[in-house]
Amino acid sequence: MNASSEQPAATMDAVGNAAAIRHDWTRAEVQHLHDLPFADLVFRAQGLHRANFDPNHVETASLLSIKTGGCPEDCGYCSQSAHFDTGVKATKLMEQESVVETARRARDAGATRFCMAAAWRSPKECDLERVCDMVSAVKGLGMETCATLGMLTPQQAARLRAAGLDFYNHNVDTSPEFYGRIVTTRTLQDRIDTLAHAREAGLKVCCGGIVGMGEQVEDRLGMLMLLANMPAHPESVPINLWNEVAGVPVNDTAERPDPIALVRLIAVARLLMPRSVVRLSAGRQYMTDELQALCFLAGANSIFIGDVLLTTKNPQRTRDAELLDRLGIRSGLARAAVATAGPAPRREAAVDDAA
Ligand code: SF4
Repeated sequence: MNASSEQPAATMDAVGNAAAIRHDWTRAEVQHLHDLPFADLVFRAQGLHRANFDPNHVETASLLSIKTGGCPEDCGYCSQSAHFDTGVKATKLMEQESVVETARRARDAGATRFCMAAAWRSPKECDLERVCDMVSAVKGLGMETCATLGMLTPQQAARLRAAGLDFYNHNVDTSPEFYGRIVTTRTLQDRIDTLAHAREAGLKVCCGGIVGMGEQVEDRLGMLMLLANMPAHPESVPINLWNEVAGVPVNDTAERPDPIALVRLIAVARLLMPRSVVRLSAGRQYMTDELQALCFLAGANSIFIGDVLLTTKNPQRTRDAELLDRLGIRSGLARAAVATAGPAPRREAAVDDAA
């Protein structure tokens, strides 16, 4: 059983409209939502967001590359693929001690979830054993745990779950129609199979994609439809802006999305998957504070914190803390700031690390 199916099938938005948890969205319906007048779209998304989440809270997660580069897959956007000359050096799997120390620092800096990423097609047995030990140790710090290790067998998913893994990240990347333009070494069905194995093992699913690779708006909506029509909605939906990487094929097709189109996409994600956490993931360094604020208004409620995401940049922690503070949004960043500064009764009311 998953989180979505444990809950009632409908929820009320802020204006009292029943919003069913659906898995049968049609293209016409999704396009209709997307094309609503901007104010109507954002109002509906914010209403549904409020019905399901604290609108003034954002989840803060941290991401660490525990094994970088040398990946045999050919994802056309990725600096870590061995198919492209990107200058990223392949490393070995990190030692557990370093991973746990990084997680501890991330927790103390305000992260509530720690995601461990390895550039593999799928984990080897000996590597999985070591990752399971890392997961257990990070879980012992009191953090939510997430891993992204490539394709998993049902047995591997079960072992990760037994080790204390909460979430498995495996993105669909883009629409079924555009997928073949981006990746050829693994099929979309391969990915869907791994997501099913994660689900069967009792793991929560983190699954989203990337925009700005040259896809059309219809592809972005197709990606959201693919996610929303899964048997259970992913608990986390990361929306990444393609991070510029020299030497990869996506350079030839990439086009930065119009900011308003991005807000529309977030709002549609919120409407299609009312109880999923929608994360502004990679590429936030290309977003102004004002654009991020609009995305939060449209239903985004998670960010990655830290200076680096795998091999690319991320807004600095202080900039994030200042932005969330300006917006009156609570997060683990505020909790960490209070812990560092010592007791501050007037600010404590604004501190909340609930994930
Ligand atoms: S599987 Fe992951 S690490 Fe490997 S090329 Fe694709 S995105 Fe990069």
